[in-house]
Amino acid sequence: MTYVVNDKCIKCKFTDCVEVCPVDCFYEGENMLVIHPDECIDCGVCEPECPADAIKPDTDQGVERWLELARQYADVWPNITAKKDALPDAEALRDEPGKFEKYFSPEPGSGD
Ligand code: SF4
Ligand code: SF4
Repeated sequence: MTYVVNDKCIKCKFTDCVEVCPVDCFYEGENMLVIHPDECIDCGVCEPECPADAIKPDTDQGVERWLELARQYADVWPNITAKKDALPDAEALRDEPGKFEKYFSPEPGSGD
């Protein structure tokens, strides 16, 4: 089992999530994070830390799409373990629907 980041994360980067992960298994894209499904130990401590409610257990309905995305990008995006500044539109776009279709970028972030 693993936890999964969905598209509510896009354009956030509050990164409260990465600070609490005991195994440092978050990976950073240009405007979204993913959790490495093979590294996550399923502790659940990151879920309540996310202000966008973007982190879900993979037992939830409808997370398959985001699990597949994590499998695709966790091996190519850089590791992120420390909090950084949120993106400029993080608050304004927090509850915007359809973020993946509008804003997803496959480009890597800068990591730590
Ligand atoms: S706090 Fe939540 S929405 Fe923000 S970067 Fe972390 S997982 Fe993404
Ligand atoms: S559930 Fe635990 S191990 Fe998995 S990403 Fe969240 S904090 Fe890290």
